[in-house]
This record gives sequence, C-alpha cells and structure tokens, in this order.
Amino acid sequence: MTGTIPKFSSTPLDEIPVIRENLRNGFRTGKSKSIAYRKQQLLALAYMIKDNAARLHEALDLDLHRAPAETNFIEIFPSLAEAKEAYSSVGKWSKPERAHWSFNWFAMNPTIRKEAKGVVLIISPFNYPITLSLGPLAGAIAAGNACVLKPSELTPAYSALVAELVSQYLDPEMYTVINGAIPETTEMLKLQWDHILYTGGARVASIILGAAAKTLTPVTTELGGKSPVFIDPKCDLHMTAKRLMWGKATNAGQTCIAPDYVLVPRSFVDTFVKACIEALKEFFPHGAEKSDSYARVISPGHFARIKGLLDGTRGTIAYGGSTNEDTKFIEPTLVVGVKNDDSLMSEEIFGPVLPIIVVEDVDEALQIVNSRDHPLALYVFSKDAAYKAKVFDNTQSGACVANDCIVHYATEGLPFGGIGPSGSGMQGGKFSFDTFTHFRATLDNPKWVDIILGGRYAPFTPKKQAS
Ligand code: NAD
Repeated sequence: MTGTIPKFSSTPLDEIPVIRENLRNGFRTGKSKSIAYRKQQLLALAYMIKDNAARLHEALDLDLHRAPAETNFIEIFPSLAEAKEAYSSVGKWSKPERAHWSFNWFAMNPTIRKEAKGVVLIISPFNYPITLSLGPLAGAIAAGNACVLKPSELTPAYSALVAELVSQYLDPEMYTVINGAIPETTEMLKLQWDHILYTGGARVASIILGAAAKTLTPVTTELGGKSPVFIDPKCDLHMTAKRLMWGKATNAGQTCIAPDYVLVPRSFVDTFVKACIEALKEFFPHGAEKSDSYARVISPGHFARIKGLLDGTRGTIAYGGSTNEDTKFIEPTLVVGVKNDDSLMSEEIFGPVLPIIVVEDVDEALQIVNSRDHPLALYVFSKDAAYKAKVFDNTQSGACVANDCIVHYATEGLPFGGIGPSGSGMQGGKFSFDTFTHFRATLDNPKWVDIILGGRYAPFTPKKQAS
C-alpha cells in the first residue's frame, strides 16, 4: 500500500478463463436486461469516480506525476460525464427502433432490437488510464454487457486502485478488472469475447487483431498517429500559441490526439515560435522541471524513445531540449526547420516535443499531410473560413478541429475514433453504447401476407413466372 493506493499485482494466469466463465454466467442470468439494473450500476460507477477523486489523483501523481487539476480536466470530468450521460440516456438508447416504413414490409413489423453483445473486454493504455477504461465501461454497462477491464501495467497505481474500486462499487458477477502485462493479455486473447475495445498503439493492435481473428471476436481499435496542425498567419496568434502549447504540454505530450507536428508558412515562423515560447513561459514561469503542473514520461523505455527521436533530429531546437533520465523529465521542446523525413517525423512522438515544418503555403502543407497515414486528429488555426474549409475538405482524419486541440474527445455528441491506421470504430456517449450493442433485426410476419408473397412457393407455374 502506497498512501491510500493498494499494491499492484497481476491476475494469476489460470484464473483468467475462470473469470471469463463467471462473467458469462452472470450475463446469462439476464439481470442486465433490466434498464433499472443498468442505471443502478451506472450510478455506482459515477459515485465510484466522484467518491474516490482524491485517490485517483494520488494514483496518477504516482504513475505520471500528474497535477490533480490536469487529471480533473482530462480524466475525472470526462469520465463522470460519460457515466452521467449513459445514466440519463440509457432508456432512450435502448428502445427498439422500427425500420423505416415501406409498403412491401411494414406488415411484418420490422424492428431493430438493441441487445447486449455479452461479455466484452476493454484493453486500455497508460496515458489517460481513467477515462480510457471507465469511459467505455459506461457504454458497455449501458448496453447491458458484462465487462472485463484490462488497464495498463505501466500505470500500476491506477490499475491496482481501479481493481479494488470496481470490486467494491460494481456487481462482481458482471464487472471485473484483470491486471497484468503481455502474458496476461496474451492469455485473455486465447479466449473468445463478444467484443474487444482496444485503445493503444498500432503495433499491439496488430497482435490483438491477429488473436481476435482466431476466435472471431469483433474488435474496435482506438489507435494513434501523427496529428498535424495547419497554421494560417491569419490566426489569433496569442490564442493559437496558448491552446497549442497546452495541447502539447498536457500530460507531457502523452496524448493520442496531441498536436504532433506543425506546418507554418515561412514568413510566419519566427512570429509563431516567439508566441509559443511566451505561452510556455506563462505556463511554467520557473521552468517545467520545477513546476508541479507538468507531468513526466511514463517509463524509461518511452523516455529513451522520445530522447532518441530528439537526438536524431536535423532541425534546430528553438526552445527547451533539456532532459533528466532519472526523473523521466523531458522539457517542452520546439524544433524548427524539421523536414518530412526527419527522425521526429518517423513515428508518433507521444511526448512533449513539437517539430515545426516550414512550408511555402497551404498547398504544400496539404501535400505533406496527405502523403502520410490518416491521423487521429487534424487541427487548423485560422480566422479565415475559406482556409479552414480548404483544409477540412482536402484531408482525411479521425476528427478535424479548428482553433483548438484535444477538447473534441470530451465534447458530448461527437464520435471519437480514427480512420484507417488511426483506428476503426467509434466511442463516446451513444457511440460507445452502439459499439457494445448488437442491432438485432426482427420481424413477425402475419399469415395474410402470403396473399402478396405467395409467389415465392413452388411450383413456379407459368402464371407465377410471369408476375
Ligand atoms: P500499448 O499499445 O503499448 O498498450 C496498450 C495496452 O495493450 C496495454 O493494456 C498493454 O498491457 C497491452 N499490450 C501491450 N503489449 C501487448 C502485447 N504484446 N500483447 C497484448 N497486449 C499488449 O499502448 P500505450 O503505450 O499504453 O499507449 C500509447 C498508444 O496508445 C499511442 O499510440 C496512442 O496514440 C494510443 N492511444 C490511442 C487513444 C485513442 O483513443 N485512439 C487514446 C490513448 C492512446
């Protein structure tokens, strides 16, 4: 026990099939068909988050040196909002839907029933451990599923805490946490699940998809990628720099939709960089290393990876660049004059380093972005409607956002998901509910319809053939 945080321990491998079987039995009792039951569990989930905010802050401080205010904004509030929205909307979302009226079929009462898939698995990454496990859990509960959470072994404090909390607050016959790393996840993937929602990197996604193919388990993948930023000189400079530096510095850049690289017209580079430096100095007046408001990189492996990308750049460091291996600190860093084939452009940075690519105009920026994989998010900072429309209309990405970054993932009513290599499927509110729901087609055909459809029965007489 560290403070109020229990000690992390991996779930024994031989318990994993037993846990899945127990949840299947729980699901088969049919208790989650009741909307009242789902609401009660969603309420318990909301209270679990609310009652334990201080412990969650403590866990995230241990795992990521994350400030409570940041954890509130990027994790606690969005997770609570997911649980509350699911609680108040589950009745509406679950209602059967009549198929659209058609003369040929209306008499059969064609209806779509919204049914739970069964026992679902949510595998989540280290970077936003609360919201990427408990957010989708709200959708899984609302849809009537039993659910296993598999949080990341890289956040041992959170993962141990959530295992304790889920067992205390939620129905243990239906919801549980399996903890562990590759051996435990590999064991889980030998089993059939009724759906897997995987959030993480593309390399592991291939492993998950390969294993799921063997058991014909459907998978939603929420992945990452390099989310570009288009800068129009006709932007609100101070606001742009502030929001962009916030997006890059939050969680020390370990955000799947963090601005990954920026495309700036040559004539505007110096002005833009100066404004970004001012914003960083405003956030961290005594430097980020001394600040309580700045997180750390999660692991020695990720620290070495990000430092390697920075060491390999042929660009010029315009701000930052200092690191501390012992504390896994990497300063918010701006690198200017980065080319499309630079080390910083070789993979998703997933850290507080921002390469700035100098372009001649928006057409060159579009050409660079469109030569790469479709990103999870794409950002434009401009006051010019035509500029924004040009970028939105001539690119593909999971989401496109003007004049801000990151906040769209928590915006109620919007789907969150990627396209192509940045993921497939959607989550968030009703979209999470739909992900974990089987849309079951039903009809009930009265006898008299054979007056119209009698032609389907043999023998196919000349009269029938002619009609
Ligand atoms: P990761 O892929 O290393 O790990 C994610 C999960 O997979 C963890 O629970 C981990 O235990 C498990 N895992 C790791 N190796 C495995 C293996 N060999 N077999 C089976 N399971 C394995 O991801 P990460 O480093 O924790 O997170 C970073 C990535 O996640 C980034 O690429 C980021 O963009 C992405 N991400 C995406 C979203 C989104 O919503 N689209 C959100 C956050 C992070």
